[in-house]
Amino acid sequence: MKKTCSKCKIEKEITEFYKKTARNRKDTHEWRSRCKGCMRRAAHERPKANHLYKVECPSGYYYIGSTIVGIEQRRRCHIRAKGSTTLSKHIKENSLSQEDLKYSVVKEFQDPEEMRIAERDLIRSCYADPFLLNKRIPLRNGTDMSKRFCTKCKIEKPLEEFYYRRDKESYDSPCKQCTNTRLREYREANKEYYEANKEEIAKRDKEYYEANKEKILKTKKEYYEANKEEIAKQRREYREANKEKIAKYAKEYYKANKEKKLLDN
Ligand SMILES: [Zn+2]
Ligand SMILES: [Zn+2]
Repeated sequence: MKKTCSKCKIEKEITEFYKKTARNRKDTHEWRSRCKGCMRRAAHERPKANHLYKVECPSGYYYIGSTIVGIEQRRRCHIRAKGSTTLSKHIKENSLSQEDLKYSVVKEFQDPEEMRIAERDLIRSCYADPFLLNKRIPLRNGTDMSKRFCTKCKIEKPLEEFYYRRDKESYDSPCKQCTNTRLREYREANKEYYEANKEEIAKRDKEYYEANKEKILKTKKEYYEANKEEIAKQRREYREANKEKIAKYAKEYYKANKEKKLLDN
């Protein structure tokens, strides 16, 4: 298979072209339009400057980023991104044009790693600001992994305050409290639907359970094993906080069963 390079216009073997990476996910199996040689040359000619930069929108929103190719080159990348990055998504959603944005260099660095750490610290210090567009604080060497910011309430909390997702093998981005609030709101919002379809939903749940029994039990067991201490702690706290309620319930249960037993005999 052969292909003509869009830059040097020479027809070359397909092995002379790079495959598009996962970053250009939409068309994974496409080949880059420029040949390897032309791409390498372009990379070599690209200006090099470690810029920690800020992009400001007229509405007050701003984005913090860093680049090793200088702010001008990075600006072109943001323009090309067309909604696939945080900044370009904001531009698209608010029908802004590139002319509306103010790009400025916060600081220039000699060492790119030093720049990335400064970038992390800057985003971290602005994270609770509702005008900051960055969704995440980048992870760098020296990041304290025992706590993190919730992407929802923007409060820094210890790692235990986040649910561990076994399927993703990482912690959830919103904290437990925010996740619980969201679930509760969802249930509230769908209350009528559930009430109206109670039986059907119960039937569907039961069918699903029967069909996936082994898998569900296995997952449950694994979850329990992994979170044993946390679960025990929660139970202890619950018992502590609901002492009276539990005692009352136990008493009623005992009484009801005693009567039942007497009747049965
Ligand atoms: Zn070429
Ligand atoms: Zn939260």
